[in-house]
Amino acid sequence: MANEKNGRFGQFGGQYVPETLIPELNRMAAAYEEAKQDPAFQHDYRELLANYANRPSLLYYAKNMTKDLGGAKIYLKREDLNHTGAHKINNVIGQALLAKRMGKKRLIAETGAGQHGVATATIAALFGFECDVYMGKEDTDRQQLNVYRMELLGATVHPVETGTKTLKDAVNAALQAYAANPDDIFYVMGSATGPHPYPSMVRDFQSVISEESKLQLQKAEGRLPDKVVACVGGGSNAIGSFAAYIDQPAVTLIGVEAAGKGLHSTDTAATIELGSTGIFHGMKSLFLQNKAGQINPVYSISAGLDYPGVGPEHAFLAATKRAEYVGITDDEAVGAFEYIAKQEGIIAAVESCHAIAYVQKLAPTLPKDEIIVCTVSGRGDKDVAAIAKYQGVEINE
Ligand SMILES: *Cc1c(COP(=O)(O)O)cnc(C)c1O
Repeated sequence: MANEKNGRFGQFGGQYVPETLIPELNRMAAAYEEAKQDPAFQHDYRELLANYANRPSLLYYAKNMTKDLGGAKIYLKREDLNHTGAHKINNVIGQALLAKRMGKKRLIAETGAGQHGVATATIAALFGFECDVYMGKEDTDRQQLNVYRMELLGATVHPVETGTKTLKDAVNAALQAYAANPDDIFYVMGSATGPHPYPSMVRDFQSVISEESKLQLQKAEGRLPDKVVACVGGGSNAIGSFAAYIDQPAVTLIGVEAAGKGLHSTDTAATIELGSTGIFHGMKSLFLQNKAGQINPVYSISAGLDYPGVGPEHAFLAATKRAEYVGITDDEAVGAFEYIAKQEGIIAAVESCHAIAYVQKLAPTLPKDEIIVCTVSGRGDKDVAAIAKYQGVEINE
């Protein structure tokens, strides 16, 4: 892709890791370049997407939302219908195939909401890998069901007690484990983040989202969308939703970040809007940090968006103004959670509801002949109890 040169997207990206990891990352990059060109690898990847993950996912015309909002036509790309309930399976299938190709025995992963951990544990079970998942203690408490789910799938979950005990600390712990034993381990990265080659590789594995939506919309409407909207945590579902449209300047790309309690509060995770350039977790990108470069604690109602950085390609798309990035608060996301449930009968992940909330604002401002494609990155069953609590409803589980 034109955005990228030697593992960098403009000034962003790179490989900022302990020296011991560099040879392993280079091996991985070379193995991936080879795999990418190998029809047998591509075949295995497509085959598992179709017959294990349940792809292609629907491009669903949201008739009720379209009518209710009274503007642009709204289509939802239904990643919530994938096996394991989110877009993450697309990526872990690709990385697990690469791990197998490289002769690895053990997968390790970090996880926030638990979705990536569950996806990795799932694929480890399918392929017969051993699996260790690192998860912040805060998140293991918030998402106990996903912890049990991973254990059920045969993985070992390591609660991480350092720092703010959330996703960034889980990434640190996983990177440490990897650096200590790079030969045996394949680190399955959960988003389009980290050192090269992960941001490019994860984008490629998630690009199936926009490759499909482009064909599906062509069939339904005979044209490209006007706007593509997706939520941004580390940015994997968004970059996958954008990829096939990046070289189509008529398509506006919009990433929706978690503003938490608001862009003017410190309880936020809106990295692109409020962050500055720095180096963390192996990459040069935008981060929420203080003047000394210490990473700020971040906050969002959604564990999946609660990350102080963003993948380097998004930092680049923001800097070059190819994509726009906006913030949606907890309140707005919870409103959208209830809205899409009542309008369309879809319980969407609270992460995805950040994108939905922005569509609620955007659609009425556009003419009826414009088309929005919004990615529903995952299903919301995992969030029902937290949303009830947010609304002051007590539920006995
Ligand atoms: C993990 C997750 C996200 C955030 O991750 P990205 O890499 O930004 O896509 C968003 N939605 C769901 C449902 C998730 O599980």
